[in-house]
Amino acid sequence: MKIYDQTELDFKDVLVKPKRSFINSRSEVEVTREYKFKWCPRRIVGTGIISANMATVGTFQVAKHMMQNKMFCCLHKHYEIDDLIKFITENDCRDYVFLSMGLRDEDYKKIETILTEYPDKCRNICIDVPNAYIPRVKELVIKMREKFPDILLMVGNAVTAELVEDLILSGADIVKCGIGSGSACITRRITGVGRPQLSTIFECADTAHGIGGMICSDGGVVYVGDICKAFGAGADFVMMGGFYAGCPEAAGDIIEKKFITGQIDEKTGERVIETKRFKVFYGMSSEYAQNKHYHGMPKYRASEGRVVEVPLRDPIDKMNQDILGGLRSYMTYIGARRLKDVSKCTTFYRVNTQLNTVFGE
Ligand code: 5GP
Repeated sequence: MKIYDQTELDFKDVLVKPKRSFINSRSEVEVTREYKFKWCPRRIVGTGIISANMATVGTFQVAKHMMQNKMFCCLHKHYEIDDLIKFITENDCRDYVFLSMGLRDEDYKKIETILTEYPDKCRNICIDVPNAYIPRVKELVIKMREKFPDILLMVGNAVTAELVEDLILSGADIVKCGIGSGSACITRRITGVGRPQLSTIFECADTAHGIGGMICSDGGVVYVGDICKAFGAGADFVMMGGFYAGCPEAAGDIIEKKFITGQIDEKTGERVIETKRFKVFYGMSSEYAQNKHYHGMPKYRASEGRVVEVPLRDPIDKMNQDILGGLRSYMTYIGARRLKDVSKCTTFYRVNTQLNTVFGE
């Protein structure tokens, strides 16, 4: 038996130390950066926020909103090729949209066709496999880099230095990091496997940056402050699913539910009924997703995702403004003028309590 004894940290286990700053106003900070990649020769200016390639938030509609803010969308892999082609030819997707693929031959054929027949449209690819430790992932990275040397290639998911290094040296520009931290994920419950997200970022970013690669922190963002902490710990990109799941623009119908409250209506003397609105959000490895996007759940697999009803939240543009506002404020607190400087300027406190929740979160 082996055990790593050092405490592994999550976003909730730290707060950030404010520092003397020469920035007088939040408007003086630059929340975009120019991304230069190890393999892909293209440069992209953006804020490294990515909506996850889940069926509810990795959609065309969400992508359009993300692009407007120079943020990214990783489209889910269940779109038909004709729909993808229509979208990438009608919208300027070059920089801010990723096309996803898994390990299935159909996925490869779809991506190969788009990259070959529409060479100047969308060349950002995300190879997404919950467990990137299996050898076929690395083989696919090598194959993709050989065949399409100029693509921007993200691959995941990993949580340790060895795999990050291996995937970058094999041809990945960005390694997507995080196992078990997603809001719709039950991998940790089912398998016991996973790693707290902040420690994952520390180790993986350090390794990736040392060899010219980058990482995308994937999963576990609950508050805007978590995005700041992720960038502070060294993430170049931060991917989020659950955070956007309640936006009206996310896929799925709005469900209305009525709740009988403890309050009495003074006029009628009846209990007050409150209406709350929700959206359905589901993990991509859930049985629900398997039934919806494939032909049911194979017998050898267990569901590793949950289905939840999330309260309806603000429109996505408002959420993104909140993110940028939080990030600007964070940068002002730590004295970072440019997004690129955020991790250099960040020092964490380990804490026992993150928030005062006496009146709610
Ligand atoms: P969130 O931002 O919701 O905390 O995390 C989003 C991430 O959760 C996704 O990008 C993906 O990596 C992960 N994820 C999505 N669906 C599932 C699932 O069904 N099972 C597991 N283990 N992870 C999932």
